[in-house]
Amino acid sequence: MSNPNNSFVSPPKKLLQNKFDKFAEEIIKQLQKKGHDAYLVGGCIRDQLIDIPAKDFDVATSATPEQIRKIFKASRIIGKRFKLVHVYKGSQVIEVSTFRASGAKSNREKIVKDQLGKILRDNVWGTIEEDCERRDFTINSLYFDPIQKKLFDRHQGVSDSYKRKIVSIGDPMLRFEEDPVRSLRAVRFATKLNFKIDKQIKDAIYEKGYLLSSISNARRFDEFNKIFMHGKAQHNFEKLETFDLLKHLVSHVGQSNSYGYRLQMSALINTDNRIHEGKSVTPGFLLAAILWPKLIEIATVEDSISTRRFFPNMDKILRDQQILTAVPRRFYTYIKDIWSLQLRLQSRIKNQPFKVLQHPRFRAAYDLLLLRIEASNSESEIGDWWTKFQSCNRQTKLEMIKRHRENSSNSKKFGLSGELG
Ligand code: ATP
Ligand code: MG
Repeated sequence: MSNPNNSFVSPPKKLLQNKFDKFAEEIIKQLQKKGHDAYLVGGCIRDQLIDIPAKDFDVATSATPEQIRKIFKASRIIGKRFKLVHVYKGSQVIEVSTFRASGAKSNREKIVKDQLGKILRDNVWGTIEEDCERRDFTINSLYFDPIQKKLFDRHQGVSDSYKRKIVSIGDPMLRFEEDPVRSLRAVRFATKLNFKIDKQIKDAIYEKGYLLSSISNARRFDEFNKIFMHGKAQHNFEKLETFDLLKHLVSHVGQSNSYGYRLQMSALINTDNRIHEGKSVTPGFLLAAILWPKLIEIATVEDSISTRRFFPNMDKILRDQQILTAVPRRFYTYIKDIWSLQLRLQSRIKNQPFKVLQHPRFRAAYDLLLLRIEASNSESEIGDWWTKFQSCNRQTKLEMIKRHRENSSNSKKFGLSGELG
């Protein structure tokens, strides 16, 4: 229950420890100096309450985008659907958004919706109270003024954060119609924060999840990255599948217990582990692995990957995925290179292994090969072969190639036993 008359509450101690970003605070100070209200809002407050490091610091203000733009030299107005301002300092960017008017009342006709209720454009400014109504979940609707130490908590966001609950602001059926991405966000926050999803939201996901097909593939790619590239990929994959939402982000999902599913799981776990170890990750590699089972399913003829089916189908598989998530062009070549290299990693003829080793995508291709071996439960020697080939001297390398040629003279098959259906 909201209590509009008593929305400012005394901030919990955790928010008074001054752990917020200095640049964001500086922006707030400047805005206030010019007579505007300004607050830190959303995830950074929620995360501070539950003792996890904030990913970014967002600012909400009563100043319009044009006013914000004038105050900060290094700033830029972005967005069409939702105009906001990016304020820059070195490599840092802070997102500053103007309070939005509520969808109800006299503004209704100014907010452009499509026939399914989805908001297409919404640049009508309002008060903090109205802005708050537009936020998705109570835990994301906290506004903290770090200068005057004021906390605006109209929907018991502090209490829900402590109770570890994701609760919708307003009827989630309507909120998910307005913006279908909110159902993905509910799942993402549940896994990220280890929170429970409120029953009403669960029902709305089941009922309105299908609307995700109406949002742009660019937005779905943004969500894909937030969901799979932040250390909770495996958990999100499984949870999205239970809500039947995965099909909006991934074009081919393996049947549980199949080789395909095991490979997808290994790739997700591998991505999570790399993130936790501080290593780099790319959606290109994850997509290459996730889509590999479908590629070889289509390309397999009589216990071997047929090259005549393999190469032409690479584009088809990527197109299927492109319909769901706009895969940037640069990942296309990257993914196709990794796939093509799988065959070259297997054949190892003449001086090819030397060339493969020099290939800029060798490391990624080798990583995928290891995941394939693991998922196929095969006894394949290829992984060990390449592990050794990378580190031994030239003479040994030449001997390895020779020995391989002698041992595998009859076999021109591609693919591992255990992955070819
Ligand atoms: P994260 O830790 O992932 O950054 P966040 O809560 O900060 O979490 P953002 O996507 O950065 O999430 O959005 C900032 C804030 O904007 C949210 O906390 C929420 O209040 C609001 N918001 C973002 N997307 C939506 C949406 N689709 N519908 C309603 N409110 C949204
Ligand atoms: Mg954020």
